[in-house]
Amino acid sequence: MSQLFDLTGRRALVTGSSRGIGRELAAALADAGATVILHGRDAQRLAATVEEFTARYGHERIHSACFDVTDESAVAEAVSRIETEIGPIRILVNNAGIQHRVPLLDLEAADWQRVIDTNLTSAFLVGREVARGMVERGTGKIINICSVQTDLARPTISAYTAAKGGLRNLTRAMTAEWAASGLQINGIAPGYIHTEMTQNLVDDQQFNSWILGRTPAARWGTVADLAGPAVWLASDGSDYVNGQTIFIDGGMSVVV
Ligand code: NAP
Repeated sequence: MSQLFDLTGRRALVTGSSRGIGRELAAALADAGATVILHGRDAQRLAATVEEFTARYGHERIHSACFDVTDESAVAEAVSRIETEIGPIRILVNNAGIQHRVPLLDLEAADWQRVIDTNLTSAFLVGREVARGMVERGTGKIINICSVQTDLARPTISAYTAAKGGLRNLTRAMTAEWAASGLQINGIAPGYIHTEMTQNLVDDQQFNSWILGRTPAARWGTVADLAGPAVWLASDGSDYVNGQTIFIDGGMSVVV
């Protein structure tokens, strides 16, 4: 049974894994046996995470790549370098993302574009480059990190909502084109998870009590809550799960 979820010998690239949710997803995959390529934009922060992971899992299983997920040529170069120097990528987690809170009437086009590029276009760019090899090899898992905003809107985060909604349909589009080549592409849609990105919301008493009241589970999610679903979607245990977006939100998206 445990073999179903064993990732030993499989290489996983997790974008935005220098901190936050990506870092914990990378740890979950490494705990399940994967060799992990940690990633971020800030080289110093990435190096600190690499050092910590290397101490935990050994230097043979921990690698790193530093590039901007919105830069098409940097993505192509990095994926090619990883596959040549480290080996074929079997699992890709498109996790890198940003938030930008401002009312829609005040939203600058440049900020709209930055949020769309980082949360949506990046999954296309990195996904396309990695899928080239996966399709050729006839196997691969792609997990796109969506959000409850994939389904639910809220004031001040319009670009993020549009990007995360688009990411679910990109997941379906990737499935339509690549599933027959042995790839499984799915989304994970976390609810409100306590990380650096949301610390200001946790600290905001009004927002915090809204979350606790609005979530059937009556608590914020933790990064540990995402580990099981991520390992499942990265493993043989999900080989006939295609194009789905799994909400891990304490039930928030199914109640009003
Ligand atoms: P975070 O703590 O702010 O971490 C973001 C990560 O993405 C960092 O590693 C960052 O690297 C990287 N990144 C951002 N822009 C990048 C770029 N242009 N190129 C390369 N790397 C880039 O965020 P988080 O809260 O863990 O969120 C991770 C994902 O989960 C996002 O997609 C987010 O939308 C989603 N999510 C979060 C929550 C939540 O409650 N936190 C809920 C639902 C969904 P650098 O530090 O080097 O820039």
